[in-house]
Amino acid sequence: MQYISTRGGMPPKSFSEILLSGLSPDGGLAMPAAYPKITAAQLEVWRSLSYPALAFEILSRFIDDIPADDLRNLINQTYTAEAFGNADITPLKTLEPGLHILGLSNGPTLAFKDIAMQLLGNLFQYQLDKTGDELNILGATSGDTGSSAEYAMRGKHGIRVFMLSPQGKMSRFQTAQMFSLQDKNIFNIAIRGVFDDCQDIVKAVSNDHAFKQAHRIGTVNSINWARIVAQVVYYFKGYFAATKNNDEQVSFAVPSGNFGNICAGHVARMMGLPIKHLILATNENDVLDEFFRTGVYRPRTTTETQHTSSPSMDISKASNFERFIFDLTGRNAEQVAELWSAVDKGNAFDLSTTPLFAAIKDYGFVSGNSNHAARIATIRDIYQRYHVLIDTHTADGLKVGQAHQESGVPLICLETALPAKFSESIAEAVGREPERPAGFENLENLPQRYVVKDVDAQAIKDYIEEQCKLSA
Ligand SMILES: *Cc1c(COP(=O)(O)O)cnc(C)c1O
Repeated sequence: MQYISTRGGMPPKSFSEILLSGLSPDGGLAMPAAYPKITAAQLEVWRSLSYPALAFEILSRFIDDIPADDLRNLINQTYTAEAFGNADITPLKTLEPGLHILGLSNGPTLAFKDIAMQLLGNLFQYQLDKTGDELNILGATSGDTGSSAEYAMRGKHGIRVFMLSPQGKMSRFQTAQMFSLQDKNIFNIAIRGVFDDCQDIVKAVSNDHAFKQAHRIGTVNSINWARIVAQVVYYFKGYFAATKNNDEQVSFAVPSGNFGNICAGHVARMMGLPIKHLILATNENDVLDEFFRTGVYRPRTTTETQHTSSPSMDISKASNFERFIFDLTGRNAEQVAELWSAVDKGNAFDLSTTPLFAAIKDYGFVSGNSNHAARIATIRDIYQRYHVLIDTHTADGLKVGQAHQESGVPLICLETALPAKFSESIAEAVGREPERPAGFENLENLPQRYVVKDVDAQAIKDYIEEQCKLSA
């Protein structure tokens, strides 16, 4: 399998060549040159596979430059009952016939990002062991991504994680989850500023190409292709769990932010999984819902971006969305480059008057948005009717999913985090705090390990340099 760029400016590369990189050199995103198509006979065999065996079948179609036995070992090491609390890895919970929740949040940080990130940690380690290189992961987080990356990379030799977060702006739970890690290769840096300051520092450091090269700076942000492809697996797993045979179609409802999760659903559908609708749910930050309803993609400014009670979906633009537009244009890299020359300047594009807008339905996408009142009402309603507690992001997915539900088509709502992470909103909805999974009871009281820094890219560079020397 070769990988190409959505903007056409990258010679075809292998999986291992794109594994550690973020953007393609031309500013675009890596995409498989073609989607592997799954036959009816293969799908039949896959139905009875365990999660790791299914993951191997799917991933090996996208990763052909890691020997099969090595890839199988990496997958088997990653998807264990020990790490995900359950041998099913992504158990399906049926609320009533035809309405299901796919549990994606039983990994170490209680959010779906662990499913991809845990594999990424093992893939990175494998790759670095082969080359003898080091990697310093630099990231900015306002919550889930940072902790998921840290729990995936902790204790891995040759890898350090430098994670910037806005001081005092994350929930106590999220802060404790990250800052309580005592691993020597994890560096939590609380910045005296807001999330955007953290992101600006990451950009400034990454734009210093000499520093970046000298210190082997890399990222784990959501545009990483390996993360997308790891997420394809649970669409298949969820489909098999919710159906009896492969003539049936299902729809998936996906709480969306950067379009990473639902992009994996799109890939699964392109491979031939019988998905009727991919139901995209946003919160008040509805840039994606607006596109799927109107054909206009209008990235928001920072000041237009709201802080909501489903904070992991608070985005101003969706970093993986370009991948879908690449397919929608019939893989016309020139057109994508043109559209994103506007987006990269903060401008909108409008497809409403082009045939592309009508073509969206051929890809199964529909959308809707949610807001605080709707998400609280949904949490309460699901709790009262089924005695099941869901988190705020999953509630946005269920709210929008149910609005698009069709009789005869099972609806699978992706659970992207556990309610324990967002106890305030849960208490508002149902009048009590959610239970915590075993091992998390005492989280906020554990000793914390972090440094505090000003909004100053040079100070961060100095810190990285110093820590690399100390632990060389
Ligand atoms: C990251 C995240 C999302 C959004 O996923 P995308 O892949 O960015 O669309 C939704 N819910 C939770 C809990 C998340 O952590």
